[in-house]
Amino acid sequence: MSVDFRIPHSVRRVASISLDAVLSNLSALGGNGRAVDLRGDAYGHGLEIVAPALLEAGVRELVVSPGVDAHPTTTGLGRLLETHGARTIALDDEPAAAEAGAGVARDGVIGPELFGLGDRALLPAMRFTAEVIGLKRLRAGEGVSYGFTYRPATDTTLALIGVGYAHGAVRLASNRMRIRVGDGLHPIAGAISMDQFSVDLETGGEQRIGVQVGDDAVLFGDPRDGAPHVLDWAEQTGIPAPAITSRISSVVARVATRGGRVVERTSEPSVTTAALDLARLSVPTAPARPGATRIPADHLPDRAVARIDLAALRDNVSTLAATVAPAAAMLVVKSDAYGHDLLSCVHAGLEAGATSLGALEIGAGLALRNAGVRVPLFAWMHGTRADFRGAIERDVDLGVASAWQLEAIADAASRADRGLARVHLKIDTGLHRSGVNPEDWAGLVTRALELERAGRLRVVAAWSHLSDTSPHDDRRSLDRFEAAVAEARSLGADFEQLHIGASAAGIDYPDARYDAVRLGIAAYGISPFHDRTAAQLGLRPVMSLEARVLDARGDVAVIGAGYGDGLQSRRGAETAVLIAGHRYAVAEVGVDRSLVATAASGPVSVGDRVVIFGGADAPTAEEWAEHEDTVGDELVTGVTARVPRIATGA
Ligand SMILES: *Cc1c(COP(=O)(O)O)cnc(C)c1O
Repeated sequence: MSVDFRIPHSVRRVASISLDAVLSNLSALGGNGRAVDLRGDAYGHGLEIVAPALLEAGVRELVVSPGVDAHPTTTGLGRLLETHGARTIALDDEPAAAEAGAGVARDGVIGPELFGLGDRALLPAMRFTAEVIGLKRLRAGEGVSYGFTYRPATDTTLALIGVGYAHGAVRLASNRMRIRVGDGLHPIAGAISMDQFSVDLETGGEQRIGVQVGDDAVLFGDPRDGAPHVLDWAEQTGIPAPAITSRISSVVARVATRGGRVVERTSEPSVTTAALDLARLSVPTAPARPGATRIPADHLPDRAVARIDLAALRDNVSTLAATVAPAAAMLVVKSDAYGHDLLSCVHAGLEAGATSLGALEIGAGLALRNAGVRVPLFAWMHGTRADFRGAIERDVDLGVASAWQLEAIADAASRADRGLARVHLKIDTGLHRSGVNPEDWAGLVTRALELERAGRLRVVAAWSHLSDTSPHDDRRSLDRFEAAVAEARSLGADFEQLHIGASAAGIDYPDARYDAVRLGIAAYGISPFHDRTAAQLGLRPVMSLEARVLDARGDVAVIGAGYGDGLQSRRGAETAVLIAGHRYAVAEVGVDRSLVATAASGPVSVGDRVVIFGGADAPTAEEWAEHEDTVGDELVTGVTARVPRIATGA
């Protein structure tokens, strides 16, 4: 009884899987007669895409993630296996297989090296691309993205790429990786954020060669085509390549190519939640949508689940709404409500005092309208295929960050059957990610007012976004914002609303609240500050990621969660989990399960509940993030689609 709740994505993001590379690697590895390990949805390459090609090539034994990727008796995979006289097998160090004495030795099985994830002599199978959604001139010495960790030495041009850590672009690659844009490799400039990052197209002698909005940037792929290798990402971030590809979000479309041509694509990528993914794979007890996630108590008992405490979300939202009042509280629900399940969070947030929703992309806004949500919705990140007309007809307010967007919206407005485009003009006040530069602001405002007079749109708001770098930088941004608003008013603009603050400024900086605050991470109970915990701010974590102990022998326990569930796994990170009231160090993160060192503390038994992060007494997402050298946002948005979100406190 899964409800069809799909989010079409307004920005192009694709993982293309070269079946030629997979099959070439298979034969290089002496594939005939060997079993192949396809756990973690074929290490993120898509079991549905890869398995048929391997079976046709003669592979007869597959290792899959049990009860997660496939339920061989009910899925298409079962029929496929039958047709080819093939079967799934277990590894002999899997607890269940070990007990039954039924497994095969791991070293006889072809692992993630099949996808070129271990050895540069083999071919990398995945090419990860995303759309260029903006271009911007930047002056020498100006900072880019949160914390201003990048400042170019000379004037330059930035390209904004519409993909971020919520999609699997590992945040640790910030300022470390170069990616292919146009004809060159260009450095990632500043912090990778949840859904976007910038690259510097010119610094370091590189020249921007005809890069345009709508082009594809290649994060990684085949070095023979001039792309970075996924193993470069692994080296630069300390995260093993199989963990990088396995954590690429299900909203990134998977397409299979052969001879350079697309031969198959998975269904239109949609909402990231487990519900749909499980439905797609026909697990018999797939949770119901929308937002229900009522799962029988015995559902996938050994698998990781994310408990979503809606009572905590309501408390956080009402605390924050009271803090920012009389400014309105806009609840930001981008990236499937920061990985927490969009619909459940929307309903809880609106009950608790949020009066509008920040959807990020038009697709999410339209999905919310289809689900009956009537409050004001705001979408501000647009790819070249964004459905502006749909947004206008369904009353989704639109952020405008550049001239091309304004013209595309005006054009859509002239074709729309109903409604008026409601636009929020974005001035770049120093974050240098998106928004028009001050020198282009008067031109954008003038054109918007002209279109307003022509009845094509309504200029609703002026807005911007802060870098949270320092009080001094935030003050400078507010000054620039005030100047831009004054200039627009002198040109005749009559704004209903001004907004600039997100969680950090909403809590700490009354001057930045204006008419509305766009509240994201704090609402999910994660602190936006490095020097204060969520508890100190009166906020409670909403997500707790849980698993069970599958095996406990000697001084290690095996827990049923791994990077296939989204666990971050930087080499050498000293993370811990909570089991039966004690914290234990994580020794190793695998695809489906991880090893925990239990020597020092109390007894651990098979079946014990493991809280990885987020519950009472457990490490917080922020603590995990600190060990992983990232932010809590990356951990919660990185929880993969196969992990059911179980709402409590509804
Ligand atoms: C993500 C985002 C927010 C919310 O930020 P938090 O720090 O999570 O509160 C607000 N505004 C914009 C433009 C964003 O992209």
